[in-house]
Amino acid sequence: MRIVLLGAPGSGKGTQAKKLVADHGYPQVSTGDLLRDAVARGTEYGLKAKAAMEAGQLVSDDIVLGILKDRIAQPDAANGFILDGFPRNLPQAAALEDVLGEIGQPLDAAVLMELDFDVLFKRLTGRRSCKSCGRIYNVYFLPVPDDGRCESCGCDEFVHRADDKEETIGRRLEVYQKETAPLVDYYRELGKLKVVDAEGSFDEVYSRLVGALGL
Ligand code: AMP
Repeated sequence: MRIVLLGAPGSGKGTQAKKLVADHGYPQVSTGDLLRDAVARGTEYGLKAKAAMEAGQLVSDDIVLGILKDRIAQPDAANGFILDGFPRNLPQAAALEDVLGEIGQPLDAAVLMELDFDVLFKRLTGRRSCKSCGRIYNVYFLPVPDDGRCESCGCDEFVHRADDKEETIGRRLEVYQKETAPLVDYYRELGKLKVVDAEGSFDEVYSRLVGALGL
């Protein structure tokens, strides 16, 4: 199954995608994660992407498409994948249709994770991830346990993503509204859009998501 997860930053796409991966085996392809990895490794793509990411702007389409094509050509993506954070604008969506059309593996669905602006803002400003295993916590909704250690791996260091700081978040939400929100109509017109209410506990949202996908 080939799925796009759409939704503003903070709508829970990444966290939900991780569980879909664990339950159904399709790899999660997050262009944000791939870009952060390229930045950390100091690759050519990473060096070019760094400034745009730190400013909360979109990285150029050629870089993101290059990274995406390399990733979906890997053997583990042959039977399907969950795209998280891609496409982010209409040209990327059109490029995705072309790439998948060429390999005869069209997209099955685009799922919009729908959430109020106030909740999004808190989810982003409050987000912390475990430095060792990446498990996500939130100072408002899902705090680190009282002993200050990650439930999964016991690590006691948590990171606040540079682009989750308040000054950058406003910019990321604006970019979403202007560039990415039009994809909702795009996928609705293609008959592929499914809308999931992303407010509520992780489990509630997950069961709506698998219901919408018929899994
Ligand atoms: P994310 O983890 O999906 O919120 O992405 C973090 C940052 O990576 C974004 O704010 C952008 O700077 C960049 N990025 C991720 N995916 C894309 C994309 N599809 N197109 C352009 N920039 C992207």
